[in-house]
Amino acid sequence: MPPESKLRCPFVAAPSPQCYVADLSSKAVEKAIFYCGGEFERCEIYAARMALEKGGLKNESPFQP
Ligand code: SF4
Repeated sequence: MPPESKLRCPFVAAPSPQCYVADLSSKAVEKAIFYCGGEFERCEIYAARMALEKGGLKNESPFQP
């Protein structure tokens, strides 16, 4: 599959505050393009959200203090 056909992260539509797409800094933009735009399965934020959803903790955010 060519890189340009990769899918966006499913959390782009409802990002966590920690997501790169929710951060407007220049460092985050590069990560947003890389991770959110196709390599989301390598994103640690994505992995944490998926782990919680698989564990049945959908209503609890891993990003709260
Ligand atoms: S790839 Fe990671 S940072 Fe980007 S929207 Fe998905 S979970 Fe958030």
